[in-house]
Amino acid sequence: MTPDAAGRDPSSFAGPAEPGPRGRDGGGARRTTQRAAVLAALHDADGFRTAQELHDVLRAAGERVGLTTVYRSLQLLSDTGEVDVLLNDAGEAMYRRCERRGHHHHLVCRSCKKSVEIESGEVERWTERAAGEHGFSAVTHTMEVFGLCTTCSPA
Ligand SMILES: [Zn+2]
Ligand SMILES: [Zn+2]
Ligand SMILES: [Zn+2]
Repeated sequence: MTPDAAGRDPSSFAGPAEPGPRGRDGGGARRTTQRAAVLAALHDADGFRTAQELHDVLRAAGERVGLTTVYRSLQLLSDTGEVDVLLNDAGEAMYRRCERRGHHHHLVCRSCKKSVEIESGEVERWTERAAGEHGFSAVTHTMEVFGLCTTCSPA
């Protein structure tokens, strides 16, 4: 039924763009706090955000957090399934704290990045069938739909 609850392909992760300093994070408590701050920033967002955008939000809120730390927190959070990650149509990783756990799909506004979680039963059935026809097993997929939301659509 849900073919890939853990089916995120790590090779599709676009960041971090920079290697970044190692071992400057200090204790685990501080890391946890920074991850909580990243989660809180995501919670306030009404859609997907890039690491850079979240970093800007955190800096504006007075958090002393580096972009590398934001990337690392986001990767950890997506590894544990606490946030969703997808690639926008420019190939950049975007993150969101989703209502739904487990496998699902999104409609994403390419202008304001607002997103809606959508039913995908037909897509699930189609991928199973298409893969099965070619003898593929352990099938996973990612699919996002980009467009303009009602606010951003030309009148
Ligand atoms: Zn979602
Ligand atoms: Zn929009
Ligand atoms: Zn699916």
